[in-house]
Amino acid sequence: MSEVARSFATAQVQAGYVPAQAENTAVPPIHQSNAFEFASLSEARDLFALRREGNIYSRAANPTVLVFEQRVAALEDGIAAAAVASGQAAVALALLALARQGEHIVAARQLYGGTVDLLQDTFADWGIEVDFVDQDDIAAWSAAVRPTTRALFAESITNPNAQVLDVRAVAAIARDAGVPLVIDHTVATPYLQRAKDFGADIVVHSATKYLGGHGTSLGGVIVDLGTFDFGADPERWPQLALPYRRVAGGSLVERFGGTGSPFIALVKTKYVHDLGPSLSAFNAFQLLQGLETLDLRMQRHSASGLAVAAFLAEHPAVTRVSHPGLASSPWHERAKEYLPRGAASVFSFDVASSGDPLADFDRIERLIAALRVVRLVANIGDARSLIAHPASMTHSHLTAEQLAEAGISPTTLRLSIGLEDPADVIADLGAALATLEG
Ligand SMILES: *Cc1c(COP(=O)(O)O)cnc(C)c1O
Repeated sequence: MSEVARSFATAQVQAGYVPAQAENTAVPPIHQSNAFEFASLSEARDLFALRREGNIYSRAANPTVLVFEQRVAALEDGIAAAAVASGQAAVALALLALARQGEHIVAARQLYGGTVDLLQDTFADWGIEVDFVDQDDIAAWSAAVRPTTRALFAESITNPNAQVLDVRAVAAIARDAGVPLVIDHTVATPYLQRAKDFGADIVVHSATKYLGGHGTSLGGVIVDLGTFDFGADPERWPQLALPYRRVAGGSLVERFGGTGSPFIALVKTKYVHDLGPSLSAFNAFQLLQGLETLDLRMQRHSASGLAVAAFLAEHPAVTRVSHPGLASSPWHERAKEYLPRGAASVFSFDVASSGDPLADFDRIERLIAALRVVRLVANIGDARSLIAHPASMTHSHLTAEQLAEAGISPTTLRLSIGLEDPADVIADLGAALATLEG
């Protein structure tokens, strides 16, 4: 017991723990501490000036979170990562660090609904302009680029229709425009695709989904793949290339341009620091548990998803299945190139319409009520198989035109196939589809 821990009240907060003492735990422990003790005031001064690396305060950095960041960066072949509290925070902070007031982003029209809200509503409030293009219309991407454009943004695999992005083609337009290509890689994960191999510069994830994989913990992560040189055009990137008053010693490019990431340094020292969406140590621990089985899980998700899609494609009550692993998919050839290990387990299907929207809703409600294995949950990338009805749930605030553009009709259902025995999932869906007859 330490010297100072003599009285009960002092002992109950200090005894038995020495900061900085290694415990040799084989698994990264949960460093559930707001802040960290300095050896001396000189050390504190050096840490605050970023002259040396170390722990200060968990909003800025936490050792458990750091392990998660380094592990995701390694899986993406990136140079650095910033973990944050949710996927939504990852998208927002990555783009805020690139595009400022009066600047512009070109984004795919098929994005996750929360991202569409962020870009067309909140970013508009902040004077950041966004043009949305059909992600398969390569001419539209290049036509939308302006002198003020600072990023191109798309998902490598979209939700709910599992469209596969032509990453190479969009990356070429980003390169010509002199701006980074930012990819939301949530659905693909680095196991199914290394976005860097196809020209992406920055990757963001909702770790809430497949990376964590168990539906227990929100989280997000931004990875700098190290391919974009922010120092090449200092006037375009003043936030990175001009002197940065929060850190002594010049610009972030000068400070971190060698082996580190000026971009991730900006995300952390400005946006996470000021806006505060830090990942908790506990959630980082949970997400690390998930990462340890990512390849095994994605193999199962992918194989089971394709088996379920093939079953639905043959079912008489099903009019359409949008899964890039099926030869009937417009994205099948692209999936062979970009997803050689298989597609993800998120995809959509349509049941036959009666022509009457109210009757269709009742039939879909009956179908969902009959499910016993597949659960009605607004999430994807979970160990459990989940179903959602986009028109009344995730996409309910879109206009009819936006729904049509997103390829969603009132009879579209989204699936995220989990880790159960696929035969049980298929039997469950078969029994539920039988309720549509009669
Ligand atoms: C879920 C999701 C997000 C948002 O992530 P949260 O962790 O829910 O904040 C962003 N992008 C995609 C593709 C998603 O599926």
